[in-house]
Amino acid sequence: MTDDLDGLRAVLPAGRVITDPDVMDGYRRDQTVAARPGEPRCVVAARATAEVAATLAWAQRHRVPVVPRGGGTSLAGGAAAVDGCVILSLARMTAVREINPADEIAVAEAGVITADLDRAAAEHGLMYPPDPSSFEISTIGGNLATNAGGLRCVKYGVTRDAVLGLEVVLAGGRTLRTGRRTVKGVTGYDLTGLFVGSEGTLGVITSATVRLRPRPASDPPTIVAGFPALADAARAVTAILAARVRPSLLELMDAATLQAIDDWKHLGLADATQALLIAQDDGEAAGRQAELMRQLCAREGATLAEVFTGQAESRQWLEVRRLAYPAVERLGVPLVEDVCVPRTRLPEMVARIERAARRHGVLIATVAHAGDGNLHPVFVFDRGQPEVPPAVWVAADEVFRAALELGGTLTGEHGVGVIKRRWLAAELGPDAIAVHHMIKDALDPAGIMNPGKVL
Ligand SMILES: Cc1cc2nc3c(=O)[nH]c(=O)nc-3n(C[C@H](O)[C@H](O)[C@H](O)COP(=O)(O)OP(=O)(O)OC[C@H]3O[C@@H](n4cnc5c(N)ncnc54)[C@H](O)[C@@H]3O)c2cc1C
Repeated sequence: MTDDLDGLRAVLPAGRVITDPDVMDGYRRDQTVAARPGEPRCVVAARATAEVAATLAWAQRHRVPVVPRGGGTSLAGGAAAVDGCVILSLARMTAVREINPADEIAVAEAGVITADLDRAAAEHGLMYPPDPSSFEISTIGGNLATNAGGLRCVKYGVTRDAVLGLEVVLAGGRTLRTGRRTVKGVTGYDLTGLFVGSEGTLGVITSATVRLRPRPASDPPTIVAGFPALADAARAVTAILAARVRPSLLELMDAATLQAIDDWKHLGLADATQALLIAQDDGEAAGRQAELMRQLCAREGATLAEVFTGQAESRQWLEVRRLAYPAVERLGVPLVEDVCVPRTRLPEMVARIERAARRHGVLIATVAHAGDGNLHPVFVFDRGQPEVPPAVWVAADEVFRAALELGGTLTGEHGVGVIKRRWLAAELGPDAIAVHHMIKDALDPAGIMNPGKVL
């Protein structure tokens, strides 16, 4: 094994190959509580595409598994180490190679932190729309590999909708350029789309050409509505979308989440309401649309429905939404799930989650990118437990199957990773699974790219 690594060191600049156990320990896990990381052989902290290529050429020659890694914020176990692997970290490839305001595009290396790209775009009056809640700690490469969503996606689409082209290093070390810099273009197969959402199993993304959009001139008004029941809030979401309002943000939090935030920050949210909806419209008719959304919430039973126009208040409400995950994390170990249903089925889906929680005696706190029909039921269990308790898996199984029954999907944005593999066939069926294997075998014949993930 030492000889192997000497060969790897020989093709990389000094210091790139890390074997210090304490340092490696920081790269083994991602944010997924249910994933059991293996023991890596080393970490490669790449700084250039050529170094990624050299690593993958060496890995293919020696049949060594490679786990690509960005920010390590995966909630599906996608970035968790497998035994004997090289963890290939892109986190030091942080150059924004280009911002072109006239063409409204940017070229960013894979390790650029998502919010940093958005800030670079903001200097030109533009924005990079995908904004996962992890945007201060996740990377463009990781977002592409998982096709990440976020709060603004209800209007601006997910990461796939923002990408025009990629630089990808294939297993074996060949560097491929996919896509283009134009907003249209259909020459050849959509190889860019193939790599988006492939979770590091087909190649390593080293840079991306992405679309930017005009940044709204000011913070839009924020509608905040509190409801006596989660089902009422879900109905209000359906009513807003049916009224053809195009919100730029439509987020939902249930009673358990509000209580967790109150326990921590003492905001008194849960005293007044069982579910909270936060919405914005950043278009030209923002004021009118905000009032329409407020009225629709009131009609669906909101006991509190207000429009906040001040920038500070708007930002505070968004901050409340971003507190949801850390607040729930304080209650115990959080297993974060990610189902997505057609938006008209949202009321049924929240009812099915509540039923699963009651039936199996499991605490489930739900937040949702409700405008996308994307729910994050967070299953919380005691810290004393050595692993995810069986009742949690049974409740999760019920929630996944309910999403599929309602015409939805297992994962709206976090990916399959390791923890959703067992449900994959139930959603995809045998033919689609077979095509997945054909693609995987064609691009990664030695099976070294993030083995055991997705498939
Ligand atoms: C608090 C919190 C909030 C979150 N909110 C959201 C949210 O709103 N929306 C959302 O979609 N997700 C969210 N997530 C999940 C996570 O942030 C996303 O999946 C994110 O896209 C992962 O990016 P990363 O850089 O951390 O990638 P990692 O976790 O390092 O990797 C994720 C996957 O991508 C692969 N990968 C990473 N980089 C590359 C690359 N350059 N080339 C090929 N494969 C690569 C890895 O092998 C792994 O399979 C959240 C996570 C946390 C902890």
